[in-house]
Amino acid sequence: MQEFTDSTDLLGHIAGLTSLRDVDLLELSLLKSVYTIVNPIEVSLVTIDNQNSIHKKVDYASGRHGTVCKKVTAEEDFLGACEQLDNSTLEYCTVSAATDLLSVFMLSHNRLVSHYVTIRSVVGASKNQSQQILGMLQIYRNFKQLLQESKTDELTGLSNRKTFDSTLRKIHESIMPAYEECSDDKRLIDQVEHYWLAMIDIDKFKIINDTLGHLIGDEVLVRVSQSLQASIRSEDMLFRYGGDEFALIVRSPDMKTTQMVLERIRLSVEAIKIPSAGDLSISLGCVKSSVDVFHLTLIEHADKALYNSKNTGRNRTSFYEDIKIIEPINSAAQSSMVDLF
Ligand code: GH3
Ligand code: MG
Repeated sequence: MQEFTDSTDLLGHIAGLTSLRDVDLLELSLLKSVYTIVNPIEVSLVTIDNQNSIHKKVDYASGRHGTVCKKVTAEEDFLGACEQLDNSTLEYCTVSAATDLLSVFMLSHNRLVSHYVTIRSVVGASKNQSQQILGMLQIYRNFKQLLQESKTDELTGLSNRKTFDSTLRKIHESIMPAYEECSDDKRLIDQVEHYWLAMIDIDKFKIINDTLGHLIGDEVLVRVSQSLQASIRSEDMLFRYGGDEFALIVRSPDMKTTQMVLERIRLSVEAIKIPSAGDLSISLGCVKSSVDVFHLTLIEHADKALYNSKNTGRNRTSFYEDIKIIEPINSAAQSSMVDLF
């Protein structure tokens, strides 16, 4: 097996790894680096839950890669290696599989899932190669943590505005081909996934800050974020947009379901009890995503709906789809006023 000792190559891999800003690409880059070090049959990154089911598996072999995201039971040889790692202080171990060797490296784990890098090869990695892989895994861990911190709002722990912007853009780009594929068939268009964007703003938050101070203000922001997070479903995505404003992307087939989700959220904030802060409420503005509408325009539309909720009494939800019918009439009235005076 060819030893990977050229420090220029190694530095090249580290430079490549740390230049990435996307976790999926980072995973793939790690696998490519490990593949170059050992030159095996295949390298994989496996995410397994505490029931021994694989949730995600990214494979990389010469010139090809693939990702499987579904719950499947992990193979015996892999589980055997994981057990050895869990019951020892080893950072990796190698077991004999049917026709080859399987080396398993612990990448990271939390209460719910564990991540491993696995290498299938005919000849196992040398000590030197294994040390290089361990070093590469440590660089990956450090960099992934930095990347995650840069995507998170420090106060609330929610994803931040930068993450929101890129998520919204990615959703827009991903639904576009699906729409184009079935644009001739109206019934099929209805089956394409629907996303709704809701902008959420705490009512009269400035008063809390001004009368009770920023520390209580911060506590309110944290409690509201926790309440919002606890009332959404796992497929919905919540972000702190800035100040006392949050953005929520809801996956839902129709307006009625979206209304239900948002109403549950609104009521959850009403139920928060912080004695010093008094009653809390939020206003919401929502719009359905559409391929015809640029994703930044979508934020503008949700904001218009939010202003409508603020202007009509707060502690309520407005849909852009409802207010846009009124909007052109208002603008027409305004332009005729300009003509008159
Ligand atoms: P409205 O019902 O119209 O939304 O009224 P409001 O008083 O909530 O007005 P607005 O949303 O404009 O107020 C946002 C305030 O949030 C202003 C700013 O001082 C405060 N703020 C922004 N970021 C933070 C923060 O991180 N911590 C605290 N405590 N306050 C913040
Ligand atoms: Mg506010």
